[in-house]
Amino acid sequence: MESNICIKMKFSAALSLLSLTGINAFTPSSFTSTTSVAHRSAASTALSMKYKVAVVGGGPSGACAAEIFAQEKGIDTVLFERKMDNAKPCGGAIPLCMIGEFDIPENTVDRKVRRMKLISPSNVEVDIGDTLQPNEYIGMCRREILDKYLRDRAVSYGAQAIQGLVTSIDVPEDHRKNPEAPYTIHYQEYAEGNSAGVPKTMDVNLIIGADGANSRVAKAMDAGEYNFAIAFQERIKISDDQMKFYEEMAEMYVGDDVSPDFYGWVFPKYDHVGVGTGTVVNRPAIKQYQKAIRDRAGDKIAGGKIIKVEAHPIPEHYRPRRVQGRMALVGDAAGYVTKCSGEGIYFAAKSGRMAAEAIVKLMEGGSRLPTQEEIERTYLRDYDRLYGPTYTVLDILQKVFYSNNGAREAFVELCNSKYVQQVTFDSYLYKRVQGNNPLDDLKLLGDTIGCLIKGYSIAKPDAKYENYVESLKRL
Ligand SMILES: Cc1cc2nc3c(=O)[nH]c(=O)nc-3n(C[C@H](O)[C@H](O)[C@H](O)COP(=O)(O)OP(=O)(O)OC[C@H]3O[C@@H](n4cnc5c(N)ncnc54)[C@H](O)[C@@H]3O)c2cc1C
Repeated sequence: MESNICIKMKFSAALSLLSLTGINAFTPSSFTSTTSVAHRSAASTALSMKYKVAVVGGGPSGACAAEIFAQEKGIDTVLFERKMDNAKPCGGAIPLCMIGEFDIPENTVDRKVRRMKLISPSNVEVDIGDTLQPNEYIGMCRREILDKYLRDRAVSYGAQAIQGLVTSIDVPEDHRKNPEAPYTIHYQEYAEGNSAGVPKTMDVNLIIGADGANSRVAKAMDAGEYNFAIAFQERIKISDDQMKFYEEMAEMYVGDDVSPDFYGWVFPKYDHVGVGTGTVVNRPAIKQYQKAIRDRAGDKIAGGKIIKVEAHPIPEHYRPRRVQGRMALVGDAAGYVTKCSGEGIYFAAKSGRMAAEAIVKLMEGGSRLPTQEEIERTYLRDYDRLYGPTYTVLDILQKVFYSNNGAREAFVELCNSKYVQQVTFDSYLYKRVQGNNPLDDLKLLGDTIGCLIKGYSIAKPDAKYENYVESLKRL
């Protein structure tokens, strides 16, 4: 059952709406909270009650989905978030296009990064950034600030936010055939002084699983597993003098010391830096890699105070199933993080928005519910068409360039090319590849082969690690 507060809020909102419209009779549509939706026809639903959409998870994917549903008057939107002040473990780097596309105020961005240092296993440094225009930058955010902004916006559009942990979902057996069969969400609602929360349930008609890498919605819909990296980050407060170096600067370190299959980073935040790394193939050694990235950064962060330690899984690929009945996964729950860069914030926000827009359209003003096939034919098809090639290309690049020290040396050397920098920034900042030049592409292919040969000849071999159990788990 929903809480009394929620019911009262809905009730008073409905009353104000009635007074605005001049209708003074009490109609069933103004009282939706406690009524079961199981036994009603589509026609009577359209006339009397709104369908209820639950978005589980209030990160970028959930908030950006909820704000679309909330703007549709014919739909009731509930946003579940287990912790409203959650600080998602994250580097917080977002592409420039996200700021405009999602109307994110610039004060949500802590730092505008215009320079990057890419540092090879043998500490060869390449400076990147000359190709950027004065108004171009990579945004560096603290997730507690960005997520709160997006979540508050969804609420301002009318989403009902519930602070509570969704623990399980009852999925009716006939949910694919019976368009009216409701899902029952079990959750522990936050209550002051009660650490476990208050157990409650709510019936809903459609669920968006935006609850990240450990998604309960994915579990409820039997979405299958994905392989994952473990990423680790320490937020380190360094001196003002040290911070000056990172004013507009981010660093990426590659080498088997900092990660056997990813990169280590130093990203500037408001008054500190995020220092982190990740790996799939040797997850038990993550702390050893974290120490190495701290050592590599050396004097630039020496003496700094660790103010937060955070770790979280990062999905490696899509889940086998992303839609089941009227349940759809978005963001990390679906597995939308790119290889090579480990980027997921933009794809989370975008997938949340795309899924919600497609479903709202299918719901025709809240008069009907979509089928699984319809959601697959719209949201999934459009998302895969738009970003499928990006995931494939970055997967290949990670396999080619992050797999051993020789390839990593080659990768850093290649990034000296202004052409490579231009294409990389364009595709990252704007999520499109632009201005490609066939002659430059051909030259790049020659350069790549040359750099790989040179890299392999000079690099020290990767350290061996024995991790059969973990390696076998790699899908
Ligand atoms: C260390 C690290 C560094 C990263 N760096 C970057 C980076 O620099 N740039 C980038 O683009 N990406 C980065 N990523 C990836 C990025 O963090 C994710 O792709 C992104 O957060 C996905 O957003 P989301 O909304 O799908 O999920 P999340 O951000 O994980 O949000 C899920 C939300 O759901 C809530 N929730 C979870 N379970 C429940 C439940 N049962 N009930 C209620 N609420 C629940 C959580 O509290 C959370 O707020 C990084 C990831 C890690 C781990």
